[in-house]
Amino acid sequence: MEIHALAQKAGRWLLGALAPRLRCLCCGKPCGGSGLCEGCLAELSAFLPEETLCPLCGEPGGGAVCPRCTALRPAFAAARGLFPYEGAAQKLVLAMKYEGEYDIPAEFFAKRFEEYLSQANWEIDAVVPVPSRLSHLLKYGYNQAAIPARRLAFSLALPLYPRALRRPGFGKSQVRLSRAQRLENARGGFLPGPQGGKLKGKRVLLLDDVLTTGATANACAEAMLRLGAKSVYVLCAARSILREDKPTKV
Ligand SMILES: [Zn+2]
Ligand SMILES: [Zn+2]
Repeated sequence: MEIHALAQKAGRWLLGALAPRLRCLCCGKPCGGSGLCEGCLAELSAFLPEETLCPLCGEPGGGAVCPRCTALRPAFAAARGLFPYEGAAQKLVLAMKYEGEYDIPAEFFAKRFEEYLSQANWEIDAVVPVPSRLSHLLKYGYNQAAIPARRLAFSLALPLYPRALRRPGFGKSQVRLSRAQRLENARGGFLPGPQGGKLKGKRVLLLDDVLTTGATANACAEAMLRLGAKSVYVLCAARSILREDKPTKV
């Protein structure tokens, strides 16, 4: 991490530790110290309506299995993004991912994940965050998916395996890969991490910040099933709304 980024981070941490956040993280309006104003909280008060989502990948539509899942059944049992990836939800995700402002968003999303799980019919035994790209880790120093995952796992008293999977590496680590692993690498797949063996027989909850086409979630699910996981459910803070999903103006 660059020196000025480190200094900025340290400064922000100090400010955060000394004073509550008086302005909303999403819109900058005064918020009385909670970090999120009432308007933004109201915008984030409802999840995407379940009855409109593809039951498998969570893509918004008419509530039936979407064409993509019909053509190729995903490896995960179900995937959901809680909020549309726009407005306040998008700002929170970006603050968590790139601005080192992960405390308020991580707390917010961990609570919403717990709320979603309390109403969903998902059986889970372990929590795994989608691993970050090495370039993100080097630049920002943390995995944004792992922070709410840690809080959720703690509050549900479930084991957390942040190193169950790893993204294919570069340089030396690449040299040590087997042929099959290199092929997987070329496909953009995930490799077993040092905690990969812990997944055997487990029903895993995979957490990420944004669900787009579900390709990343599917690649992680495939890798975890190969490691012996019994099933994989995917929960993300937001679901990116593809252009064709947006309601058209009449
Ligand atoms: Zn706001
Ligand atoms: Zn689908």
